[in-house]
Amino acid sequence: MDESGQTLRTADPRTLLAARGLRASHQRLVILDYLLKHDTHPTVDRVHADLSPLIPTLSKTTVYNTLRALVAGGLVTEITIGSGEARYDVRDESHAHLRCAGCGGVFDIPLRVAPEADIPAGFVVTDANVTLRGFCPECRC
Ligand SMILES: [Zn+2]
Ligand SMILES: [Zn+2]
Repeated sequence: MDESGQTLRTADPRTLLAARGLRASHQRLVILDYLLKHDTHPTVDRVHADLSPLIPTLSKTTVYNTLRALVAGGLVTEITIGSGEARYDVRDESHAHLRCAGCGGVFDIPLRVAPEADIPAGFVVTDANVTLRGFCPECRC
């Protein structure tokens, strides 16, 4: 993990929301805090299942709408890998993903490209989405 990732992970959710001009509702604070503490690229269902005990009134729709607001505010990235189910990622720097076909785990790896060599002159890269598929050490036969 590089410096920016560490900075983001140790940041206070309230400060992050304020910096993006987003209102710090209770749901946003709790869901952003959850994402900052879970490196697992959770789905809406996962976030909902884990936070329901803390907020019994939390609906899946609220989780979804809150995540969408965080994505729109640029704090969270929505990624779709394999199954087509959206997952949510709070890292702000470009990175690639390793997707395990056994357990479904999604792991971050640094994304390194040599722009001067690989990207046509004049092309401005704003986003990258790279997924490598295979089996993690636990699932490998
Ligand atoms: Zn696995
Ligand atoms: Zn990621």
